[in-house]
Amino acid sequence: MAKDRVAIPDDLAAKVMFASDRTCCVCRLHSPKVQIHHIDEDPSNNAFENLAVICLHCHSDAHTKGAFVRNLTPELIRLYNSSWRDIVQLKLTPRGDGNGKLELAAEALLEASLDAHRWKLFFMFLAGPTLPKGKPGEFVDVWDLMANLWIPKYSEEVYSHYKPLFVEGLLEVRVRFDRLIQLFPDVLPPEFRSRLVRANRQLEVEQSVYLTVPRLIGTVNCAEHDEPIFYQRFVEVIRVLRDVANDADGIRKSLTAAIKFES
Ligand SMILES: [Zn+2]
Repeated sequence: MAKDRVAIPDDLAAKVMFASDRTCCVCRLHSPKVQIHHIDEDPSNNAFENLAVICLHCHSDAHTKGAFVRNLTPELIRLYNSSWRDIVQLKLTPRGDGNGKLELAAEALLEASLDAHRWKLFFMFLAGPTLPKGKPGEFVDVWDLMANLWIPKYSEEVYSHYKPLFVEGLLEVRVRFDRLIQLFPDVLPPEFRSRLVRANRQLEVEQSVYLTVPRLIGTVNCAEHDEPIFYQRFVEVIRVLRDVANDADGIRKSLTAAIKFES
């Protein structure tokens, strides 16, 4: 059911524009053609956290369903929006030399989180548009929904269908995580850097175990799942990537919170 648009009050619109430095939170290009987008697509929900500044170009992507590469799900826009607000906050708070480093750290943490989300988008692309959504409030986040309702049942066909997710998909995530580990050695908090190193090792294991699944099918018994060896690969990757994404988002928020507290 479509909900009625409720005009955004001027002072709120000004606050939203200021928090984003009048810049699109997705592409971050300065464009005179920006507008305020309702992240949950409910035009009556004018909560500050539900409003994002987006340029017309990105805005059309936000309303396009099915295009894989540029598919901007509400979850992704929320991530872009909160991270961009954090970075703007860092830019607006002069702190001498330390500021550039914090900004870089916030960027690197956003990258890590996006890399994890990209794997999920690849899964959604392979699964097609019929994935169940769950009831409102039933799951903590999309990762949780994914682990509980989206893991497919094993068949030879399904196995081959999802193979690119575990071969090319995980390889891409590992290359990107590696890049962050190499490029930002003094910028990333050390504990997060170790998390990425650990995640890469775990993902490499999952990638190779997936390839052995056809040989191992039927060797493990489990009351709950018919092919636990297949099911478990999804569970493990989801757990690793969700932890990276949540950790990255949490650390980024605490960087900005520290700035706000000091200033
Ligand atoms: Zn844009």
